[in-house]
Amino acid sequence: MSNFFTENQDIQFQFNRIDLEKIIKIREHDYSETAKYPFAPRNYEDARDNFRRILEVVGDISGNFVAERAREVDELGSTFADGKVTYAKGLEEDMHRLNQAGLMGFLLERKYGGLNLPISLYVFAIEMVSRGDASLMNLFGLQDISETIENFASDEIKAEYLPKFSSGTVSGAMVLTEPDAGSDLQAVKTRAYQDDAGNWYLNGVKRFITNGNADVCLVLARSEEGTKDGRGLSLFVCYGDDTVQIRRIEHKLGIKGSPTCEMQFHDTPAQLIGSRKRGLISYVMALMNGARLGVAAQALGIAQAAYIEARRYAQEREQFGKSILNFPAVADMLVKMKVDLETSRTLIYSTAHAVDMLKVCEMEQTRLKEAGESITDIRQEVKHWKSMADFLTPLSKYIISEKANRICYDAIQIHGGTGYMQEFNVERHYRDVRITNIYEGTSQLQVIAAIGSVIKGISDKQFDANEEREWHHEARLLANKLKKIRNLFNKSKAYVLEQEDKAYQELHSAELVEMYGSLYVGYLLLDEAAEDSRKMLIAKKYILDSLATALHHTESITKGFDTLFTDVEQILTRE
Ligand SMILES: Cc1cc2nc3c(=O)[nH]c(=O)nc-3n(C[C@H](O)[C@H](O)[C@H](O)COP(=O)(O)OP(=O)(O)OC[C@H]3O[C@@H](n4cnc5c(N)ncnc54)[C@H](O)[C@@H]3O)c2cc1C
Repeated sequence: MSNFFTENQDIQFQFNRIDLEKIIKIREHDYSETAKYPFAPRNYEDARDNFRRILEVVGDISGNFVAERAREVDELGSTFADGKVTYAKGLEEDMHRLNQAGLMGFLLERKYGGLNLPISLYVFAIEMVSRGDASLMNLFGLQDISETIENFASDEIKAEYLPKFSSGTVSGAMVLTEPDAGSDLQAVKTRAYQDDAGNWYLNGVKRFITNGNADVCLVLARSEEGTKDGRGLSLFVCYGDDTVQIRRIEHKLGIKGSPTCEMQFHDTPAQLIGSRKRGLISYVMALMNGARLGVAAQALGIAQAAYIEARRYAQEREQFGKSILNFPAVADMLVKMKVDLETSRTLIYSTAHAVDMLKVCEMEQTRLKEAGESITDIRQEVKHWKSMADFLTPLSKYIISEKANRICYDAIQIHGGTGYMQEFNVERHYRDVRITNIYEGTSQLQVIAAIGSVIKGISDKQFDANEEREWHHEARLLANKLKKIRNLFNKSKAYVLEQEDKAYQELHSAELVEMYGSLYVGYLLLDEAAEDSRKMLIAKKYILDSLATALHHTESITKGFDTLFTDVEQILTRE
């Protein structure tokens, strides 16, 4: 096989241009940790060398070990008997290999045995692991829950749990969903109660929980009796001991290696994370934002795997006396796949950058506060990066998971009938990718999360500045096309707002989010094109396609089918 890091030129391009200097300086406390931890970087160059080495290891394991076991993991799946979940053999071996390589505790601080790496690097790692085996990513990615513990739990809880995550001695589960609480987590019923001594316990049923058989569970539960909404929910951590019963595991379309459990808590001892009542509103929102970025990277990895298979097949397969790659219809599918992959990377690294910036600005704010210094400026920065992270995270999850689904769909199409057969990997990728626009919030919910920022015009100032910039040659032509998209977006937005109809806005939110998102990505691509002439081709295809889509969306919004809710009954009455 191959090293998924060193042999992927686009990942190399992104890695070489990623600017983490400010982020690492703050995360490394101005490179002052070397005395305590001999492996801590001495400066930025040292840190980058270290990052490259780590990603080379992830790329090697993913390409040369994980990918080789993926088909068998899919065939065997996880199994359930006598109340116990057993992973497929290959998945156990994968986890062991990642663990041996010291890759758990990716995001945690060194004092907890972690690698102290930023999210930006985690995104590279998740993409590569998922390209190897999408279901493995679910287990590897659940180390996310340790970051939530690090961010919000007491020092005692952190000291108890975090070193176990870093050493890989415990696995985790994120336990939110219930039969009546899916997209609407405010409806969670699992009950948290206290005994006379103030100890917490959990009672209730959860479903669709990835790795519900884990050693450590983060559980969303109702701590405030009599409440019905999100303000009565708190977040708890508990061990997956005998009081946690796995009732069954699901038989699924894809990611079969990753067990999806229905579980019941019977007076399970638990510890409160942070403050009561902030479980959903603050902590789960933060947890899900991290996990959403992880799922976007997972989708990207699966799509990359599908694209590679499709390109190889298109080169090798001959029909009508020539390679099918020579047919424009096939070549066009491949080009579209490649453009979607590269532009998705552009978006995801920009998102990860915003999340990393938010984290280090918050760290700076705490440091300044403790030193008794002014926090006026840094507070503004925190506000800025928080709003960017809140906008870009659902945008990435939405756009990338939908594109990845399309890529896997086309990968089967390029294989023709062969693609429908289990002997070929694209069939698995197609099944695996399908979950990425459903879990961690469906696409519809991502649109709801992003639309407020779009209506507010969160990146308007950045677009204004870009419109003022002097672009050269082809970039000027493309910048003009972006201006056209912006005009179309503004016209559509104004039309939607004039209707003063919430349902009408909801109906067209996805189109507005897509148009605004394409402007955001379009300008990033022009910057990339200034560094690498091949990227101009990617920018050109992306921006011209986005303009065509924007024209279509604008037509649909301003002249389209606007009586949905009056006609809906009539349309749906016949079978
Ligand atoms: C394989 C798998 C693994 C999972 N792993 C976990 C896990 O580890 N932890 C965990 O807690 N959960 C997990 N989940 C649950 C997952 O997050 C939910 O399935 C998902 O959030 C959707 O909830 P739901 O299935 O109840 O669908 P529903 O909420 O019932 O949604 C059904 C449909 O209605 C749409 N819809 C709902 N509300 C709105 C709205 N306001 N506007 C527009 N459309 C709307 C949805 O987009 C969807 O199309 C997992 C699920 C699966 C399938």
